Amino acid sequence: MNLASLLDRAGRGFAGRPALALGERVICDYRALAGRVAVLAANLRGRLGLAPGDRVALIMKNCPEYAELMFACWHAGLIVVPVNAKLAAAEFQYILDHSGARVCFTTPDLAATVGALTGPRAVIEMGGAEWRRMGKGDGMGVASTEADDIAWLFYTSGTTGRPKGAMLTHRNLFAMTWGYFADVDAIAPGDAILHAAPMSHGSGIYIIPHVAAGAAQVIPESGGFEPDEMFRLFAAHGGVAMFAAPTMVHRLVAAAEAADPDLSGLKTIIYGGGPMYVEDCKRAIGVLGDRLAQIYGQGESPMTITSLAKHRFPKAGEPRFGERLASVGMPFGIVDVRMVDGDGTPLPPGEAGEILVRGDSVMRGYWDNAEATAETLRGGWLHTGDVGAFDEDGYLTLMDRSKDVIISGGTNIYPREVEEVLLRHPGVSEVSVIGKPDPDWGESVLAFVVAEPGCEIKMEELDQLCLARIARFKRPKEYRFLDSLPKNNYGKVLKTELRQLLNDNR
Ligand code: AMP
Repeated sequence: MNLASLLDRAGRGFAGRPALALGERVICDYRALAGRVAVLAANLRGRLGLAPGDRVALIMKNCPEYAELMFACWHAGLIVVPVNAKLAAAEFQYILDHSGARVCFTTPDLAATVGALTGPRAVIEMGGAEWRRMGKGDGMGVASTEADDIAWLFYTSGTTGRPKGAMLTHRNLFAMTWGYFADVDAIAPGDAILHAAPMSHGSGIYIIPHVAAGAAQVIPESGGFEPDEMFRLFAAHGGVAMFAAPTMVHRLVAAAEAADPDLSGLKTIIYGGGPMYVEDCKRAIGVLGDRLAQIYGQGESPMTITSLAKHRFPKAGEPRFGERLASVGMPFGIVDVRMVDGDGTPLPPGEAGEILVRGDSVMRGYWDNAEATAETLRGGWLHTGDVGAFDEDGYLTLMDRSKDVIISGGTNIYPREVEEVLLRHPGVSEVSVIGKPDPDWGESVLAFVVAEPGCEIKMEELDQLCLARIARFKRPKEYRFLDSLPKNNYGKVLKTELRQLLNDNR
């Protein structure tokens, strides 16, 4: 089993269909893409002398060559190591060293930084002489790989500590692909996926189902996320899906409210990777209609734990609408999901515990980190470190990362619940709740609040909101106002930095 066979077949089955587009311009069809990838693969093996199982790093901003290189690596039996292009030089160095990558491909904007890193590896810049030479010569056939061979080393976004490289196999990514079709969205030939989020992460993973289905990969010319550009590209390509972090959905919705663009070319927005609050979700439904789907996953089970599929997305007026929106949906058909308490005992619906996952999408382990692997993959289950609870209907509500749960006076308080309430205040733009060390209670609840521009928020108003909706002991004892929340490059709020801020200002 080799993921590259999907492109090989698409090159014949969807031969004349658009495969890659840069902005509004289609740059190749599936026949051409499959042919080019076979040539790149032959050069990875022949010219660069790489052997099956060698690692190839991609430190590149979003660009059409991203998809070419990923498939070329698999075609040649190699392991691809996509690296978030927004990391610092020291982080690039760590990932290159840790993965032992023998070659690193880079885009011109990053060439100087990557070129200055140390190590015995070739650095090849997109558009440079060596890259042009790699596009010449004869192609090779798809290398024979086993289902459990590693295809992708997925370095976790690392909101704490050193990033770990989740070993994703061909089997894992095939499973993710079938899971997408069954439990996220249908894809028809001629549809498209717009890569506005980093291709080193979720958006890049979604290249695979779209190749399998003969849909085009569209890369914005800006290489990133500009709402006006998105609106133009929806209209230009039609049938467009896009993976977006909740912060991106927020921005897209605000821009659409202001500009009232033509959204007829937008098919689906798949959001995930962080909490989408109910108020934001309702606003998004108001603007985008029934185009939303949600996934909950992590690098260790890529994009595949639970979902609110597009065809099952909650509709206004249906029973428990708000609860459904606050949930992360139901398990993908291809995985088992269960909740356990601190002793590992399975919990019934309604009780919160750590979320465990098993199935074909779950990683083989962490690259060169036996200790972390043994800790995370115990008894055949992936221990996600997330806390959640199922309801009677099988919908999962995610509370928080277990390390973010606040324990005050011996009782668990889930920050997400408090954040949902505070976001109901019209003047609150963003909020993040953490536990502050407290001599009497162990921890007390503290909320960092970002106000909408020009809004002044009274603490009593926030207090009143909480008192009306959640137990008194969950109400923040303290509020701090910030201009913005610290976030990592994938848009996740960095609670560790907020805790640090608290330490520094105490
Ligand atoms: P990463 O491995 O970088 O993709 O981060 C995965 C983590 O992001 C998960 O373990 C969750 O804590 C969080 N996450 C992913 N999807 C969702 C979602 N739909 N809602 C809330 N949090 C999410």
